[in-house]
Amino acid sequence: MNEYLVLVVEDDKPIRNLITTTLKMNNYRYITADKGNEAIMLSASHKPDIIVLDLGLPDIDGIEVIEHIRTWSDVPIIVVSARSEDSDKITALDKGADDYLTKPFSVDELLARLRVIQRRLMKTDNTSETEFVNGLLRIDYVYGCVYLDSEELHLTPIEYKLICLLAKNVGKVLTHKFIIQNVWGSAVDNSDASLRVFMATLRKKLNDSQQALIQTHIGIGYRMMKL
Ligand code: CA
Repeated sequence: MNEYLVLVVEDDKPIRNLITTTLKMNNYRYITADKGNEAIMLSASHKPDIIVLDLGLPDIDGIEVIEHIRTWSDVPIIVVSARSEDSDKITALDKGADDYLTKPFSVDELLARLRVIQRRLMKTDNTSETEFVNGLLRIDYVYGCVYLDSEELHLTPIEYKLICLLAKNVGKVLTHKFIIQNVWGSAVDNSDASLRVFMATLRKKLNDSQQALIQTHIGIGYRMMKL
């Protein structure tokens, strides 16, 4: 039995029904809202484990809903957007959303995203404050060392900062802007290109050419998967 409570925020009834039917069939509990303000009230009163949020709502924008909820809660938020423009997704992610789905999406896609978040929520790995373990990857924060299958990797300071940032946000899509601000500070020339280069060398060292560990979201950013 799945114990997770999902708040579904969607004003389009057929899509809302598709999502709730999928959740029901997969033993999730759910509550629904068709307006942004209602979503904010429900997330405060019912404390859902996960929120699936449409960005285009009749009263306030989904982005505003994220901003509001993030003032008190880290609840994982999956944004669902009919808008194909990447800028909306990027804004949502920058405001603190965890993941996104573009309409039309398949129910399998939705379930896969929910599983990613659940794996993160479960925290069944042996991670403690001083180290991070994910599959074959281990980061020793005390000594600043990174190991892959017990072999120490020789990372540059930037690569180390990058991997620590991805690890700290494992399961979450991080935008280019967020990564650049956190690794380099704000002002960098040609920062998107530099980030790509650093990510390519980091991936090489991590033996991750298949993107099993670090996913690329083209035009948006990167995500470390929870293995
Ligand atoms: Ca809508």
